[in-house]
Amino acid sequence: MSVLVTGATGFIALHLVKDLLNENYKVIGTVRSIEKGDNLKAQFDNNPLLTTVVVKDIAAVSAFDEVFEQHKEQIKIVLHTASPFHFKTTDYEKDLLIPAIHGTKSILESIKKYGAQTVERVVITSSIAAVKDTARFAEADFVYNEDAWNPVTWEGSTVNAPDAYRGSKKFAEKAAWDFLEENRDVVKFQLTTVCPSLIFGPQAFAASAAGQLNTSSEVINSFLHAGPEADLSGLKNDFVDVRDVSKAHLIAFQSKSATGQRLGVNSGQFNSKDLSEILSQNFPQLKGKLPKTTDEGANKTEPYAKFDTSKTKKILGFEFINLEKSVCDTAKQILDAEKSL
Ligand code: NDP
Repeated sequence: MSVLVTGATGFIALHLVKDLLNENYKVIGTVRSIEKGDNLKAQFDNNPLLTTVVVKDIAAVSAFDEVFEQHKEQIKIVLHTASPFHFKTTDYEKDLLIPAIHGTKSILESIKKYGAQTVERVVITSSIAAVKDTARFAEADFVYNEDAWNPVTWEGSTVNAPDAYRGSKKFAEKAAWDFLEENRDVVKFQLTTVCPSLIFGPQAFAASAAGQLNTSSEVINSFLHAGPEADLSGLKNDFVDVRDVSKAHLIAFQSKSATGQRLGVNSGQFNSKDLSEILSQNFPQLKGKLPKTTDEGANKTEPYAKFDTSKTKKILGFEFINLEKSVCDTAKQILDAEKSL
């Protein structure tokens, strides 16, 4: 029995692979090149439980067929994490929307073709971006939960990169639920989606913590490096630690109560001031080096729309890592990695 992890070299996926191997699962990871596969296997000391298959572009037609042709009946669990998460494009459809949506449809079509009766559980990494209505973000008394959908339209998803990313997560996740509805009599698998908020926490491998990091870790990385002249007052968001996100993916396929659910994985809220206080209190060497967070107006500290994830918390049954620990562990790993360069 194997677990297929798509996008296995990603920030979240590396933690997933680590946790799965620790629980003695056989893992098949998709990677974009042979070199990335070799590097991944080396990171896990060539653990014989880990194999890789190259899927260069999830947007390609039948992108995952080869994975199933090679491993067919072995694959019982699919964790689909691969999807572009960056804002470095102006071709929103090609670089964000299409790969997210095609990638999701493509893995489900391959399951239908090769694993309709063998794949038991599918977990798709969606996002709070598919849930949250950003237009209501500033409403302190607005509460939404795992049933909500971000109202962005296709047209609205093609005007800037953040909205394109929000659209990519919404339309990809919807495509998964629609697929299941249309193929309920054909496929055996149960679906769960995981909707994390902005993810902090250490990289799975300390050596990867220097230089440019994945989009969410860059929030802390750039805060550490912006310098005292910069003003980063306006930051505010919901967050969760990557170690909890990985745990949630495992519970998503191991627990019966997670079947058919959207799991909102969220630890709490933060703003620039919180980051500044936590970093200056825990890392005396950063005194006088952190960006300004004092700009009145932009640096509103009052609460904003709340993601009520009480249903998910009951299913997951563990306490989330808090902001201070998550930020400190992230920052310490970055600072240590830089010291050792
Ligand atoms: P990463 O960028 O670290 O990982 C993304 C993975 O997907 C990488 O392995 C990447 O490969 C792969 N990938 C992206 N585009 C393609 C493509 N066209 N073809 C093949 N592979 C592709 O991001 P995260 O780990 O942060 O994100 C993983 C998932 O979690 C995404 O679905 C993201 O939307 C979701 N998510 C992330 C959050 C966060 O704050 N980090 C919050 C909520 C959801 P390569 O690196 O080789 O390009």
